[in-house]
Amino acid sequence: MYRTHNNGALRAEHINSTVTLAGWVQKSRDKGFMIWVDLRDRYGITQLIFDEERTPKEVMELAKTLGREFVIQVTGTVIERESKNPKMPTGDVELLVEKLEVLNQAKTPPFTIEDTTDGGEDLRMKYRYLDIRRNPVKEKLIFRHKVSIAVRNYLSEKDFIEVETPYLIKSTPEGARDFVVPSRMNEGQFYALPQSPQTFKQLLMVGGMDKYFQIVKCFRDEDLRADRQPEFTQIDCEMAFVEQEDILNIFEGLTKHLLKEVVGFEIENFPRMTYDEAMSKYGNDKPDIRFGMEFGELNAVAQHKEFKVFNDAELVVGIAVPNGGSYTRKEIDTLIDWVKRPQVGALGMVYVKCNDDGSFKSSVDKFYDQEDLAKWAEATGAKTGDLICVLSGEASKTRTQLSALRMELATQLGLRKSNEFAPLWVVDFPLLEWDEETNRYHAMHHPFTSPKPGQMELLDTDPGAVKANAYDLVLNGNEIGGGSIRIHDKETQSKMFDYLGFSKEEAQAQFGFLMDAFQYGAPPHGGLAFGLDRLVAILGGQETIRDFIAFPKNNAGRDVMIDAPAKIDEAQLKELNLKVTL
Ligand code: ASP
Repeated sequence: MYRTHNNGALRAEHINSTVTLAGWVQKSRDKGFMIWVDLRDRYGITQLIFDEERTPKEVMELAKTLGREFVIQVTGTVIERESKNPKMPTGDVELLVEKLEVLNQAKTPPFTIEDTTDGGEDLRMKYRYLDIRRNPVKEKLIFRHKVSIAVRNYLSEKDFIEVETPYLIKSTPEGARDFVVPSRMNEGQFYALPQSPQTFKQLLMVGGMDKYFQIVKCFRDEDLRADRQPEFTQIDCEMAFVEQEDILNIFEGLTKHLLKEVVGFEIENFPRMTYDEAMSKYGNDKPDIRFGMEFGELNAVAQHKEFKVFNDAELVVGIAVPNGGSYTRKEIDTLIDWVKRPQVGALGMVYVKCNDDGSFKSSVDKFYDQEDLAKWAEATGAKTGDLICVLSGEASKTRTQLSALRMELATQLGLRKSNEFAPLWVVDFPLLEWDEETNRYHAMHHPFTSPKPGQMELLDTDPGAVKANAYDLVLNGNEIGGGSIRIHDKETQSKMFDYLGFSKEEAQAQFGFLMDAFQYGAPPHGGLAFGLDRLVAILGGQETIRDFIAFPKNNAGRDVMIDAPAKIDEAQLKELNLKVTL
């Protein structure tokens, strides 16, 4: 037996018992006649003591050779510590060592295995197994496990069945590029790794599974943006005989359950907001509602004077910055420079200071009087002492710019607190989205999403106006889940493919199996998927998902530890009937 206890277990009640421990040497202090070693494993740290007077001589000698991260096994007697450490759960006791065995030596690690390490990101990724020994990374992996278990328990309790779907499937366009896998046995043919189990979960509904979920890896060969992983995990769900309302209720319940179970946070409000409302109030389909600063549209109260910039604009819109009235000229200039950065793209910013005496001072005093500015304050909800920031221009771009400013200001003002959670549903998404590149409409969610009842006809006359039975779950300004009620009859699905520009042959070749299945009694169904990596990071109060993934890829999509992707040898290529020409 390697150990009788782990390194987080021993307490005062164990004093005088003989125990065996195993673990890694965190550090050792050698005073010559006495040596203290901190022994670490996943559960904690126990202090070992080697004492010239009480420890056998050869054990004492061997103890002197121990280096950091050596793997050892010790047997000894639990004794009371002379100087107790109340900060450690095991701080009342230490182990007086009688037997020591070095199970494995260790090279000096390339960075310190401490909560705050001297290792940079690249080094830590290369030696991720050492990084995982550190508390901050280890705890995040344990946290992720807790979230997964809570998800499984909740859904299983509600009669959901976890079913595995295949990873080697057929390439179908679902928005992003597929990762493909050559088939050795089928010359010239390829599997694709799933971007999501979408069609399979719908087929499970046709198969009568009624309620399905799966914590599942998905793969998307996208250009990597910061904090995106080419492989990521979804909590994927589907239900039969449901309307949108049923789905929202179940997953509102799951979200509340997770917040309560995992972070001890009770949710009172779980608002629902239409897509149109989210866009006009926050300029964003995933609004962070932990704080106010809602948009005030100013067209009606700002386009009646000689100010050409506003008069020419499709939209004039502002937000009130709480207590921003005291910003200096320099601080305001910094904000203006910020919105003019190419990443944001505004041409300028008009501002109004709401003075403590109730008067206003603006950058456009030449055009607008106090009465005008009072109306702006009313529209943006600005109070005395606030600053109103106003942007103008083409409506959708201006909203996006003001939304970016709102988020930036909230971050600067500390309004985005990581231990506060404000979930909401955004519903009634448009069915279609115009794509500038291909000059046509695409499915905003995916082609299996059903339009709102009675709106199919609008497709021919006003496609941009068609709303879908599609919804997103938003948490603290992040989309953490999204789904829809699906089309479940062949005719509508076929029309939709037609509309989206698939030829009959293409639709049949790519999705014939699904439309065929719809002919054999497909129940009405719908579902959604959560992004587990992001959900876990947000619940854990962090911005980046990488530390919640045991072995993540870097920003170039590489695993620097195993050095993947990599070339394969000629023989392998030949077997796969592949030729690489570069
Ligand atoms: N398959 C969808 C996605 O990956 C989610 C859904 O519609 O259920 O976003």
